[in-house]
Amino acid sequence: MAANIIPLVAGNWKMNGRAASRGELTKIIAGAKALTGKADLIVCPPATLIASFSSAAQGSGVTIGGQDCHAEASGAHTGDISAEMLADAGAGAVIVGHSERRKDHHETDAQVRAKAKAAWRAGLIAIVCIGEQRAEREAGNTLEVVGRQLGGSLPDGATAEKLVIAYEPVWAIGTGLTPTPGDVAEVHAFLRNRLTQRFHAGGKRMRVLYGGSVKPANAKELLTVPEVNGALVGGAALKVEDFLGIASIYR
Ligand code: PEP
Repeated sequence: MAANIIPLVAGNWKMNGRAASRGELTKIIAGAKALTGKADLIVCPPATLIASFSSAAQGSGVTIGGQDCHAEASGAHTGDISAEMLADAGAGAVIVGHSERRKDHHETDAQVRAKAKAAWRAGLIAIVCIGEQRAEREAGNTLEVVGRQLGGSLPDGATAEKLVIAYEPVWAIGTGLTPTPGDVAEVHAFLRNRLTQRFHAGGKRMRVLYGGSVKPANAKELLTVPEVNGALVGGAALKVEDFLGIASIYR
């Protein structure tokens, strides 16, 4: 029997947003009311905005998340931010292993796994990203790649409460390209199977998001695919109407 999972729509603002963007958050919080009990929302602004966004979102049901964290709690790591610091600023979640971090900062599955553990140590939900490159899909290696990333990036002891997986085909991120619903279904069924094998009942309830060029126009088609439990949204998360338009499929 399919587990009863509350979907999640998470917005990754990447390196966008200033103090004045708090007005956007206010609109998201207002829009979230219609989704209470139907879908959860997470907004991941740049680190500079976590504290002010967290205080604005307190009690609203909208969770504020970081976009990355260091594996250690503190130390000589210039420019890095620990999971504990994100939690201290009011965050409730953090994205780890986004393909832009894997590419720009050469992050490995082992490092992503350590970051996910750090997130849990600090009491944060870890949103772990995986996804194949275009050449890997074209070579027919998608399932092998995402299976390896999933195995390597998730620590033991994962539960549905503290782990979210985001399947994001790298070639679909920020490109306007998307896989077919059939392709998404194949990957998500595969991931669910792997999660259930490894984490048993917990693996049945873990949220597995789809990410990559989700917008209001394609949200229904992509997010109603079996075993898709929401979306990780990049570009469209920067426009409140688009972000809420995507989430509104769950209303
Ligand atoms: C992302 O960066 O996680 C993402 C899904 O971006 P976009 O929605 O812009 O493709």
